[in-house]
Amino acid sequence: MTVVNRLLPMLALLGALAVLGLALAWLVKADAPMPGEVAVRVTAGDGTTTDSRIVAAPGTGIPLQATLDFDLPASSNGPRLLWLPREPLQSLQLSGKDAHGQPWASTPDGFFAPKPDDGFAPAGYAVVLPEGLVGAQQFQLALHSAMQAAPTPRVMAIDGALRLTAREMVFASALYAAWATLLIASLALYWAVRDVLFLAHAAYTLMALVFMAVLQGHLYALPGMDAMAAMGMRGFWLAVLLFNLCGLWLVLQFVDAGASRSRQVRRLPMLLPLVALPIVLAFLPMPSAHAALQVAAPLAWMLSAPAGIWAMLDGARRGIPMAFAAAILLVALLLAAVAHMAMNRGVLVDGMLVRHGYQVVLVLFSLVLFVGLSSRIGSVRRQLDDETSARRDSETRLRHEQARTRLTQSLQQVMREVPEDRIAHAAFRLLGTHAGELLGTEDALVLGDDYLGDGKLFVQATAKTTTTARAVQAARALVRDHARNREPVEVRLTAGRRSDDPGEGNYLIVPLRVQAPAWAALVLPVRRMLAAEDKDALVQMARTTVEQADAAHAAFLLRRTAERDALTGGFNRRTLDQLAARECKLAGNHKPLGVLFIDLDWFKRINDTYGHPCGDECLRKVAATLRAELRPQDVFGRYGGEEFLVLLPGQDAASARLVGDRLRQAVEDAEVDWQGETLRFTISIGMAVLREGDDPEKLLARADKALYRAKREGRNRVCVAPAYVQ
Ligand code: GH3
Ligand code: MG
Ligand code: MG
Repeated sequence: MTVVNRLLPMLALLGALAVLGLALAWLVKADAPMPGEVAVRVTAGDGTTTDSRIVAAPGTGIPLQATLDFDLPASSNGPRLLWLPREPLQSLQLSGKDAHGQPWASTPDGFFAPKPDDGFAPAGYAVVLPEGLVGAQQFQLALHSAMQAAPTPRVMAIDGALRLTAREMVFASALYAAWATLLIASLALYWAVRDVLFLAHAAYTLMALVFMAVLQGHLYALPGMDAMAAMGMRGFWLAVLLFNLCGLWLVLQFVDAGASRSRQVRRLPMLLPLVALPIVLAFLPMPSAHAALQVAAPLAWMLSAPAGIWAMLDGARRGIPMAFAAAILLVALLLAAVAHMAMNRGVLVDGMLVRHGYQVVLVLFSLVLFVGLSSRIGSVRRQLDDETSARRDSETRLRHEQARTRLTQSLQQVMREVPEDRIAHAAFRLLGTHAGELLGTEDALVLGDDYLGDGKLFVQATAKTTTTARAVQAARALVRDHARNREPVEVRLTAGRRSDDPGEGNYLIVPLRVQAPAWAALVLPVRRMLAAEDKDALVQMARTTVEQADAAHAAFLLRRTAERDALTGGFNRRTLDQLAARECKLAGNHKPLGVLFIDLDWFKRINDTYGHPCGDECLRKVAATLRAELRPQDVFGRYGGEEFLVLLPGQDAASARLVGDRLRQAVEDAEVDWQGETLRFTISIGMAVLREGDDPEKLLARADKALYRAKREGRNRVCVAPAYVQ
């Protein structure tokens, strides 16, 4: 589409250039001699021969007299005709002798007072010569020109003049049709898009139409134009000035000169009042005002054209469509106008190209501006489209942002409370729920292996067993392979063998960045085209989840090192003290709480005989043996060197004693293989139960005392702290 958008103005420009070429070629070809045309020698009133042209300077008020000499061959049939191009001549009259030698004079003609038989678009001044003339002829032409002009008088047969007139008419009609079409098109586009620039263009085109009609004298042939005709040359210059003003204004609007980076270009609109000022002169009755107009109007033009070119070139640099083409056409217009002026001074030959070239360029210039303006409709629409999609983008971003925030918040909340062995599971369930929400599905799930020591993971966002779950389950190996990717990937999965399997469809696999060798991936059914932003959002959500889960796990590990004993994995002394205090408080006066103080018997000997590493191994073995005998709610830890403490919530003296016996027996039965030898050992246990008014220190002290007694009484036994011992 953008290619077409770029091509269209180019095509329009090429088309315009083709039209220009054709028109100019036609103009050049139109200069061929007409049927029955004879050469005319012109002698000016002052006696200077100017070959074939009358050079008329404005001003004097006295008509210029020119003598025309030509030979008429006898063989020609029909009347002859003197033809002059339609320059703004205020009056012209031909006089001489007829075939009988009698004085003859033509009806006076003039630019502002066309003869009724000239039609509505007079092409030139045509004077029918007296009939029957043969041989050398001499006629006097009296003409009064209000501006510099150098018309070429031509003598030809009537049908030659007809053909010449037809050409001028066709050309003029083509120009008027072009202007009218542009005018209507601008108005139509203004109506469609309400851009004032089109109205400006319409005004300019209308002005150009009037300007052309004035310049070619056609306007004065229209009925009701008497007032304009009465203004004479002042009306003529008024049209020139108004058109010039409109043109410059449109150009400055077209390139939006005020928005230019160049200060000079931004100041160009200040020229507008300057070129508008001479318009006043057209309404002043003094002859001096008329003379001033003659100078001011071309000056205004010579000022506006370079300003317009400059503004257009500046606009082209700013990327305004068609500004460069318009600048080139303005240069061409300037050259064509200069050529026209040179023709009016007799410097350049009087031909169709020089006479009408600027008119063709002017139409093309207007056309190019029109194309430029029209292409702007496209860019305005594109801009609107961009704005719409930008708004949609920001809405999507907001939606993604909110989904991520919701996920983060739930993660933070859940990770605080979840037991350490459920971290991965809980985190992935939240991820599935929120990621699914983003894509509008409940069917999201996360699978993986060994993440946070969780073994095989298969976490569904919903509790239902869905077809998606079956399909994904079946494709576990494939998912695992894709989980090693960096980017999400869309795959087609199918659960069953049947082709109408409801689980069959497209799935997005979003890899989770977990520490190898663990792997995990989020899998979502995809029911619409996913934008890159959707995938990005999912990747971010996946990352957030892994970060939070990792953080929760790390916090758990940290907590564990702080409260656990590294050798045996039981609680350390500090934690045991805290837990003892807590359990005492929880039990209060209502619930029983048993305490076992455990010490290995003759442990020094083991260390001394087999060395410390062996002692450590024995400590580990004892810890494992003891823990295996305890319930989950019992508290177990290493209180010091080879001493252990067990808190038994809910156990009264009798049952705590039973537990103690069981523990003692278990250790007695346990064996440690150390370098080929089987070691056995025993423990002594002191037991106490919580009493009214007890604090943890008192409770532990009683158990310790009981342990001491157990040692004294021979070891490998359980002693109960007597009720009366304080
Ligand atoms: P008994 O308790 O039966 O009276 O005799 P015992 O030999 O066990 O005496 P005691 O309880 O006083 O012994 C403490 C010994 O435990 C001292 C030390 O060598 C050993 N021990 C303490 N902590 C550790 C430990 O972390 N590792 C090892 N290998 N030995 C330890
Ligand atoms: Mg000890
Ligand atoms: Mg001991």
